[in-house]
Amino acid sequence: MSIDKSGKWWVGSTPEDIRDFLEAYASEGYEVHEFRLAKCDCGSDAFQLDADDNEGVAKRTCPNCQKVHFLCDSEEFAEDADFQHWKCVECASELSNVGVGFSLYDDDSEIRWLYVGYRCSSCGVLGCFAGWKIAYAPSRHLFDNV
Ligand SMILES: [Zn+2]
Ligand SMILES: [Zn+2]
Repeated sequence: MSIDKSGKWWVGSTPEDIRDFLEAYASEGYEVHEFRLAKCDCGSDAFQLDADDNEGVAKRTCPNCQKVHFLCDSEEFAEDADFQHWKCVECASELSNVGVGFSLYDDDSEIRWLYVGYRCSSCGVLGCFAGWKIAYAPSRHLFDNV
């Protein structure tokens, strides 16, 4: 893993770089304790990404098998969502690696907040596309629904 921080945007060489990006991104808010990278059942790790940051909804669509997956607890709130489609600011690609960073409460018991991070699968630009509050229990099952 290595991140090139010299340009306007951070650029990651591998999907796992999303984690380092989110840790830095979150350093002045709720810090990231856990991270999970999204992978489709078909094995693909590049997706079309749509999210509504206000409603706290994000979904990824696999370009290989067309499967649509709502991240974490998104599906519950999907009805009211006004989706924004992700497109790379640098190269206009519409495919990205997707990873979620989770911030836990001080006792590590439950999730307080999550961040939906991405890495452009063409040029590697890293960013955070959405984030929302969880703050209910139980919540740790959401780690496995990225
Ligand atoms: Zn797939
Ligand atoms: Zn790009």
